Amino acid sequence: MKKEKAKVLLIYTGGTVGMVQDEKTGVLKPFSLDSIINYIPELSRFGFRIDGYSFNPPIDSSNMKPEIWIQLADIIGKNYNNYDGFVVLHGSDTMAYTASALSFLLENLGKPVILTGSQLPVNVLRSDAQENIIVSIEIAAAKQNAKAKVPEVCVYFENHLYRGNRTYKHNAENFDAFNSSNYPELATAGVHIKYNNGVIAKSSAKKLVVHQSLDTNIAIVKLFPGTNPALLESIFNTKGLKAVVLETYGTGNAPTDKAFLKPLEKAAKKGIILLNVTQCRAGAVQQGRYETSAELKSIGIISGADMTTETAVAKLMFLLGENYPVASIKKLLQQSLRGELTV
Ligand code: ASP
Repeated sequence: MKKEKAKVLLIYTGGTVGMVQDEKTGVLKPFSLDSIINYIPELSRFGFRIDGYSFNPPIDSSNMKPEIWIQLADIIGKNYNNYDGFVVLHGSDTMAYTASALSFLLENLGKPVILTGSQLPVNVLRSDAQENIIVSIEIAAAKQNAKAKVPEVCVYFENHLYRGNRTYKHNAENFDAFNSSNYPELATAGVHIKYNNGVIAKSSAKKLVVHQSLDTNIAIVKLFPGTNPALLESIFNTKGLKAVVLETYGTGNAPTDKAFLKPLEKAAKKGIILLNVTQCRAGAVQQGRYETSAELKSIGIISGADMTTETAVAKLMFLLGENYPVASIKKLLQQSLRGELTV
């Protein structure tokens, strides 16, 4: 019997990968998906069916928004049964946020969704685009015993495949732009693509559920020595605010003086969800380890464990969008829904 061709849907949202320099101004602006594909003739050698879907217009990922995350999830949902995997071309600046959001929006995922992009446009001689796109497509099509090898939302950049909701962009210059300090690589591309099977999520036997609502009534507050309590107060008084990601020091520590704690206490009493994540890129919040976090715990601030800020934002938008009661959201924040935190 003839083996069926692997089918991959290449979704182009924008980003440096598909930008050309404007001749007059020198500014980088997006160009079309067809033009990108023309720069990678090697793709035909896979023998896969690779279809394209392009956002119109393609955007720099600094213009990414939750509405587009929902649209992206919907496109994947509508095409889910027709493809073996999905590759999303995306700017690197907010890629970690999009990967996190998609991981929550796509529940029971059984196929790969690989986000990739590049630091240099595809038409530049030394571009990293070709390699990133070729390997991402290979991973999106990879199967073992008729099942997807990596049924997860991932980020692939410069030889590394990461769980998307564990990533952050750590370098604006190097090709190696992403990192995942709190979770190991899912695969490494060298002479062979080596899959780290023990850390890859198992394919879900349940039907894919595509969630369609995100609530953006949240804020991020990053502490710094000298944080003005009045500033906190004014943020917490924002109309409609439902939750705040509090970026604290080290293992989740914050000042102990009353003036600082008062606005937090008031916000928590009002029902605003306060989620504690660390400013450190590796390690986890451990509320109560130091005196400087014990008070936060007693106020009712929720530990974000080792979640990245990017994932904390996406998870809050998702849980609030699902309209769960506050008590349930507080519980779910501390559980691993898509492998985003270590319990
Ligand atoms: N500004 C670009 C973007 O995020 C950078 C990149 O693609 O790497 O869209």
